Amino acid sequence: MRKFLTGFGFFVLLPVSAVAQNCPVEDDDLHDIADRARVMASIAEAAVEDSVIYRRYFGPPGDQDLAQLSSTYAAISSHLLIGIVNYECNSPATSCDQGDFAYVFNDEPYTLYICPDFFSLPQHTDIPVPPATIDDRWGGQEGTIIHEMSHFENVASTVDKHKGRKIYGRSECEQLAEDVPGSTLKIADCVQYFAEDVTAPILLDGL
Ligand SMILES: [Zn+2]
Repeated sequence: MRKFLTGFGFFVLLPVSAVAQNCPVEDDDLHDIADRARVMASIAEAAVEDSVIYRRYFGPPGDQDLAQLSSTYAAISSHLLIGIVNYECNSPATSCDQGDFAYVFNDEPYTLYICPDFFSLPQHTDIPVPPATIDDRWGGQEGTIIHEMSHFENVASTVDKHKGRKIYGRSECEQLAEDVPGSTLKIADCVQYFAEDVTAPILLDGL
């Protein structure tokens, strides 16, 4: 216990360690993106309630649903704070399919394989308000970090599929939430979009 607290105290001084390999941007840039993602996850954790945005992505909440989603965001933000996140861009282990922005192996915390197209995504601070006006299908760089972090087994074990069907994009999340309420709570994209939509970009100013 004491050791944990000591370690935690140390990492609080150096939040969101970022180690980037072969990336086309500076370590500090990735550090800033991950730091904003951490703040977005905290904002999302506090914003989980029965609301229009909640129902849009998850449907009417069941008994445990709000607590489950809150703990997902709490896990994402705390692991971004105390975990050492490695960013692998263009390493031999990287094999990006067309349309991929990033991927992880869910039992390899916390290595994020970053695909070249990731850097063409907007940053959340550049997204016009309301976020719904951005492309329906894709979010921003910080949201992508939230998406990928949520996949790790020791974070939230989210997935990208429901009964074999890939769920990518806001409208897919909405449709599935309407058809099967609560089934999107463990879908990474839906977790990402809620966090993006409840975070006014101005809240990230200065980060
Ligand atoms: Zn995914």
